[in-house]
Amino acid sequence: MSALDRNFKYEVAREPGGEAVKVCFACGTCTAACPVRAIDERYNPRKIIRMILLGMRERVLQSDFIWLCSTCYSCEERCPQGVSFAEIITAVKNIAAREGKLHPAYVMQLDLLKKFGRLYELEEFDNKKRAKMGLAELKTTCDEVARLLEDTK
Ligand code: SF4
Ligand code: SF4
Repeated sequence: MSALDRNFKYEVAREPGGEAVKVCFACGTCTAACPVRAIDERYNPRKIIRMILLGMRERVLQSDFIWLCSTCYSCEERCPQGVSFAEIITAVKNIAAREGKLHPAYVMQLDLLKKFGRLYELEEFDNKKRAKMGLAELKTTCDEVARLLEDTK
């Protein structure tokens, strides 16, 4: 088991969006409202906040579940403390990403964006279908997106 990091909550609170982490009083309303939780019991916003407050830094940053939030904001709508869990988890993901702990699915998506400028490969077959429908041909790559990614990394 990794050592606890008592400063983790302060680290999250310093990130944009993470400020409200310390006012959660663990009522669990967010968890009850969460559609992701409804289909995957491993995902539990209340528990993730408790883990942050307890200093379970490595467990949180290396877990798959921080990448499961769909940012629907249902939890924020219902939280009696006005906590936006979606913003908190974005703050956590930003910390994880800076430390190279991006989920493999995101790494794959970034590679696709760099290569094709899209999240899926556009093939000649797609353009043939477009031509049949009288639609203009699309470029199979989008260099502008690759350049944007390069400029903003
Ligand atoms: S609803 Fe708000 S106060 Fe309740 S556990 Fe979730 S974040 Fe904390
Ligand atoms: S924003 Fe994320 S944590 Fe909140 S209800 Fe939606 S999926 Fe669940």
